[in-house]
Amino acid sequence: MTLFPQMVSDAFMTSITGRAVRNGIVGFSVYDIRDYTEDRNNRVDDYPFGGGAGLVMQAQPVYDCFRDIRSKLSGRPLRLVFMSPGGRVFNQKIAHELSEEENLVFLCGHYEGVDERALEEMGAEKLSIGDYVLTGGELPALVVADAVIRLVPGVLHNGESVLDESFESPLLEYPQYTRPETWMGRRVPPELLTGNHSRVAEYRRKKSEELTKEIRPDLYELYEKSLEKTDRRKELQKSIKKLSGKIMRYLK
Ligand code: SAM
Repeated sequence: MTLFPQMVSDAFMTSITGRAVRNGIVGFSVYDIRDYTEDRNNRVDDYPFGGGAGLVMQAQPVYDCFRDIRSKLSGRPLRLVFMSPGGRVFNQKIAHELSEEENLVFLCGHYEGVDERALEEMGAEKLSIGDYVLTGGELPALVVADAVIRLVPGVLHNGESVLDESFESPLLEYPQYTRPETWMGRRVPPELLTGNHSRVAEYRRKKSEELTKEIRPDLYELYEKSLEKTDRRKELQKSIKKLSGKIMRYLK
């Protein structure tokens, strides 16, 4: 749901999301909120009650647009997301959660936002893409849709690539290299050329740890905690094994 349909459809039909649509893995429709206004001059916004700068998108066209979408889905479940700097901050965990949904509807705000009564009536949840303010919700909706669509089975050709990526674990991804082996005098790290899987994995894990510690100490802390948990679990498993051995011997 947008006031700038062209902006959304052009971006959506490009690259991997476009391929997913063409292959019938996901579908999308763009609704122009302006098509639903009852205003003679096609207006969709008005001044904010209580004063203040800017305009607010009116409840009527937004709500009627939503009702139309809902009726087209004939009772099938849908989840409505209003892109807003005032929402919970989007992350990879939320992307996974949304990728399980059958129907996602994104409402793109403009001006100062949307009349709160429409959001309440529609049961919209607010989602932000970060602590900064953009002019409209189209780019944020595309960001979220892109992150969600690539998690839908069959969208990426190499399904494994999702697992290794930044934010799939608390660690950021290691640096990537491709041919040629030497470029402008810079060589690819020799560990990646050994053909030894465990050496490559060890090198990548070390790099991921270094990068995360430097750039995202908050994530590194989570990582350390998850390692402690794994160690504790291993200790516990060992003790249980020892104890059950003792019990078995005693019962004999
Ligand atoms: N008055 C609003 C505020 O201070 O929270 C900002 C409105 S912003 C200029 C216009 C629209 O852009 C919003 O309604 C929202 O749809 C979108 N938008 C801007 N920044 C965003 C962000 N960080 N995350 C999600 N949507 C955003």
